[in-house]
Amino acid sequence: MTTRSDACCPLCARLATIRRGSIERHVLVQCCHCRAFVIDMRLNEIIANAWRRNLTAILGHLPWLTDATQFAGEHGGIVTLTSTNWIYIAESQARERLHQNKLRTEDVGVARRSA
Ligand SMILES: [Zn+2]
Repeated sequence: MTTRSDACCPLCARLATIRRGSIERHVLVQCCHCRAFVIDMRLNEIIANAWRRNLTAILGHLPWLTDATQFAGEHGGIVTLTSTNWIYIAESQARERLHQNKLRTEDVGVARRSA
């Protein structure tokens, strides 16, 4: 059985639909900004606590998690965020984006040198 409710997206705090369903201790979040992703209840509690107490060490990772869920959604995938993988996902996403930006900067540098 699935129960559905409207609540805040744990990642971006925008209005989202939260579904509790077949996977125990996990919820499916559907957010207009972050797209759809699965999050376990433990991590959901950790993030809710971080929002309440403004724990920037945790909140600082959230834009990278949003980036990861958006990227997966654009490619037809869905990210499952858990209390054990979320930091790894956030750091990997941040590294990947920095790497892409560096490549882009190098491309511009090459273009300038050859011009
Ligand atoms: Zn969101």
